[in-house]
Amino acid sequence: MITRRRFLIMAGSAITALTATQVEKVLAAFTSPPINRKDIKWGMVIDLKKFNELPQAKRRRVYQICKEIHNVPEMPNPKDRVEWIWPATFEQAFPNLKDEYLEEHLKWLEVPILCNHCENAPCVKVCPTNATWQRDDGIVTMDYHRCIGCRYCMAACPYGMRSFNWKDPRPFIKKLNTEYETRTKGVVEKCTFCVRRLESGKEPACVEASEGAFIFGNLNALESEVSKILRENFYIRRKADLGTEPKVYYLI
Ligand code: SF4
Ligand code: SF4
Ligand code: SF4
Repeated sequence: MITRRRFLIMAGSAITALTATQVEKVLAAFTSPPINRKDIKWGMVIDLKKFNELPQAKRRRVYQICKEIHNVPEMPNPKDRVEWIWPATFEQAFPNLKDEYLEEHLKWLEVPILCNHCENAPCVKVCPTNATWQRDDGIVTMDYHRCIGCRYCMAACPYGMRSFNWKDPRPFIKKLNTEYETRTKGVVEKCTFCVRRLESGKEPACVEASEGAFIFGNLNALESEVSKILRENFYIRRKADLGTEPKVYYLI
């Protein structure tokens, strides 16, 4: 659970001008919809140096916690793989930055990759059933019940961040989290930016587990931690030249 102070940092100037009573209302709004999401555009910064300095077990935990909370199955056959966040090499994550003179230390960086919750999301545009759509706060989310498994969204995602359930995933969930839904054969799934946790006042699970290497917050608020970091540091985004406007930023 985020503390009141942490919440204020995440949301930044969008709420810093409020009175204590108004803050209570905003916090309450996070626990029960509707919330005024128009003022918020969630984004994530991943500090690759900090992340790569974590011991391997802690880095693994960042990926594992997402699986455990969201009932992501561990499929025995790699062809059936379902993942919401996983490690890539620098060249896999940023193929357009591949260069024979790439600094040696970059080549060996482990880069966590997940859905970028693109502002201009091609996956949303192609979905024929509105099973995937963008909320006012920028999160690209899904309604699994409306997914007909056409996989247009997978073809449209230039990052390969969606997984298809070729088999019933439920027998392959290591330890069922009864507080989170499971999916079925024939539907697509992906990272949700932990939307459910956000609405109950918590940070995304991978952010919480990253020991400060991942930072999450409101990109629309000048005073939020993510905005400040992005103003003060050099960052890169995956395939930013495509115009998808990814909202996951990497510090290198
Ligand atoms: S990364 Fe892919 S799945 Fe995620 S919003 Fe962008 S296009 Fe859609
Ligand atoms: S697979 Fe599901 S979410 Fe993807 S485009 Fe088809 S209906 Fe939409
Ligand atoms: S933001 Fe949440 S859903 Fe997305 S990768 Fe992190 S833990 Fe998983």
